[in-house]
Amino acid sequence: MQRRLTYTVGKDNADASPRDWFVATALATRDRLVPSWLASTKRNYREDRRRVYYLSLEFLIGRLLIDTLTNLGLTEAMRDALAELGVDLDMLRALEPDAALGNGGLGRLAACFMDSMATLEIAAMGYGIRYDHGLFRQTLKDGWQHEYPEDWLSFGNSWQFPRPEITYDVGFFGHIESSRLADGMLAHVWRPGETIVAVAYDTPVVGWRGKHVNTLRLWSARAPDALRLDAFNQGDHVGAQSEQARAEAISKVLYPSDSTPAGQELRLRQEYFFASASLQDLIRRHMRQTGDIRRLADKVAIQLNDTHPAIGVAELMRLLVDVHGVGWKEAWRITQATFSYTNHTLLPEALETWPVQLMERLLPRHMQIIYLINAMHLDLLREKGASDAATLSSVSLIDERNGRHVRMGHLAFLGSHKVNGVSALHSALVKETVFKDFHRLYPDRIVNKTNGVTFRRWLLEANPPLSRLLADTIGAGVFDEPERLIELEKFADDVEFQNRFAAAKRENKARLATTVFERVGVRVDPAALFDAQIKRIHEYKRQLLNVLEAVAFYQDIIAQPAREFAPRVKIFAGKAAASYHQAKLIIKLANDVAKVVNADPATRGLLKIVFLPNYNVSLAETIIPAADLSEQISTAGMEASGTGNMKFALNGALTIGTLDGANVEIRERVGDDNIFIFGLTAREVEECRAKGIDARETIAASPRLAEALRAIAGGVFSPDDPHRYAQLVDTLTYYDHFLVAKDFDAYWEAQRRVDARWRDQKAWRRSSILNTARVAWFSSDRTIREYAQEIWNVAV
Ligand SMILES: *Cc1c(COP(=O)(O)O)cnc(C)c1O
Repeated sequence: MQRRLTYTVGKDNADASPRDWFVATALATRDRLVPSWLASTKRNYREDRRRVYYLSLEFLIGRLLIDTLTNLGLTEAMRDALAELGVDLDMLRALEPDAALGNGGLGRLAACFMDSMATLEIAAMGYGIRYDHGLFRQTLKDGWQHEYPEDWLSFGNSWQFPRPEITYDVGFFGHIESSRLADGMLAHVWRPGETIVAVAYDTPVVGWRGKHVNTLRLWSARAPDALRLDAFNQGDHVGAQSEQARAEAISKVLYPSDSTPAGQELRLRQEYFFASASLQDLIRRHMRQTGDIRRLADKVAIQLNDTHPAIGVAELMRLLVDVHGVGWKEAWRITQATFSYTNHTLLPEALETWPVQLMERLLPRHMQIIYLINAMHLDLLREKGASDAATLSSVSLIDERNGRHVRMGHLAFLGSHKVNGVSALHSALVKETVFKDFHRLYPDRIVNKTNGVTFRRWLLEANPPLSRLLADTIGAGVFDEPERLIELEKFADDVEFQNRFAAAKRENKARLATTVFERVGVRVDPAALFDAQIKRIHEYKRQLLNVLEAVAFYQDIIAQPAREFAPRVKIFAGKAAASYHQAKLIIKLANDVAKVVNADPATRGLLKIVFLPNYNVSLAETIIPAADLSEQISTAGMEASGTGNMKFALNGALTIGTLDGANVEIRERVGDDNIFIFGLTAREVEECRAKGIDARETIAASPRLAEALRAIAGGVFSPDDPHRYAQLVDTLTYYDHFLVAKDFDAYWEAQRRVDARWRDQKAWRRSSILNTARVAWFSSDRTIREYAQEIWNVAV
């Protein structure tokens, strides 16, 4: 550290700012993992191991200092060493910016998977984009969301290694030249009209106990010529740099579009840019190792995280056929054997498609290849006898319906040997809905891989009080073998253990109460039930249902001044996509309701509502260990898996939720008595929608809901603008697509079951302990082991 401070940061102790100390500490930590990193790389080559490449447009990493120290087993040693220099490790921890190169669950999954692949010593590499600006920073002004650019790189990034020598050309536009080969076959060469250079930046990713270190390689874009000197010399100082600006735009910002396609040319440029650079890089490595392109599928597995990298299917075909001279049929066999694809959503608006016209202009050779893949695919189906027009048009790569579009999900499906959903329910629905016809034709292709989370970050690092208690009670070996959490079951009724478990929770709640006061100026009582809904703001996630329940609860409290209620703190956090007006209005509503409720003495302090701004990984690490209740209340059939639900249960929060995503599997494991399930099932949702989504009768039949809606529509919470929510309430009344009204009474009733359990603290603690004890299966180590065995064919 001292050496790093002096020689790398260039400061002495007297002049060093806290940030200087952070940089010195991060670099000293990084130094400690480099030997293991180099050894892992050598071993991968020496043992000629099959490699796994995880392609993801998002990696929602968060901070790395404590994560790296934890995995290396150096946290306490570092804390002591810093203390001797008069520096506090926890103060440094808070200085690190979050690496927020992702929107939400999908990006966080990729980060958890990187951790687990290193832990399981898989020869893996993550590929993505090194965005200059990650997900926007959210502030709340008078309850409205505002977005500001996020600047995680403004003070440098101590974890990364720039690799200016590792670059690839990525082409766009241009034309195709064809020539006839000696054997009469046609050869095609793409002559791009524009070339962008991809430059590698590597971040080492260390596994548990520092045994194996993998690489996350992120690409940055630059122009082949930094400056057009001719233009510069003629006095056009700005124009001389325009190519650079156009190139750099590709890795400038993360699209803040959560699960809706950003229909911009720039987005397609990003997707192709990182898919092409990654494929060129892994082929170069493969050729260096084997010298035989035909063995690619024996040595390489590529996982596509959603359809964002799906253009890679056409790119690999182009590289194999046009560049490496492999015949089409063999190239297709290699491609399918190499790729596999993870589907993350059933929302029709989120299934990526690109206008054929755009694809033809931007990637003319890829468009040709896609047509050819499609023609062969449809021919094969005709041969199989599946020739009815409806089937053919539903499985075609081209959607002909309103303007021709390339369906990226179909391309990913066809180009892969396995396609997976991310929870049991979701995978079943994938077979019944988006890929119904494909599933009939390829019945073995779709499999399930229920998501998981890394217990290093989400238990060991995020929750030291509970981690210490676990180590004391069942031994620190639980962090090597999470299955041993089950040994907690026998302490579930032990009053002494219950008290210690509750004390750990209380410590986390006190810490969160401090954060809440610092960030939003509201005092909350750690003795109250902490009820948290933290996730992207989306209508299907139904934060609105939670707010409506809060309003109804508030009305109950003031209507019955003599009754006892279980005191609650409702905690919200989450970002809305900048263009998602309804979601932003829901944020404003939560804040408006909070303002009125928190200021009303008639609540007797029984209800507090807070909305914490700028939800990110670090804030999640503070909230989750402190939560008593986890809100997982999406419209059934719409949340693919959820991973927030797993983090909460692991930390002893009880779930109130619908039978959606992985909630179904959480219930199977924790048991019906230790989770609060309510509401319509996925099938009932479908039936309800078929009957119509007019909610007037439903509302009329629920006086409590009607009263809450009346207050909101009447301006009780928005006296400055009484009509602010008129449209919101109208939409819910006439077009209740997310079935908020339909599920309201069931939700209300489930919340009262929560209250009853809370009043019996012994019963609550028992359930809480059983949640932690029974969710070991949701470790991302388990998920990755399944991918390794059933999709990638690598030993673990
Ligand atoms: C886990 C996590 C998510 C995903 O949460 P869900 O509740 O599953 O939607 C999103 N953002 C962050 C920062 C997370 O840590």
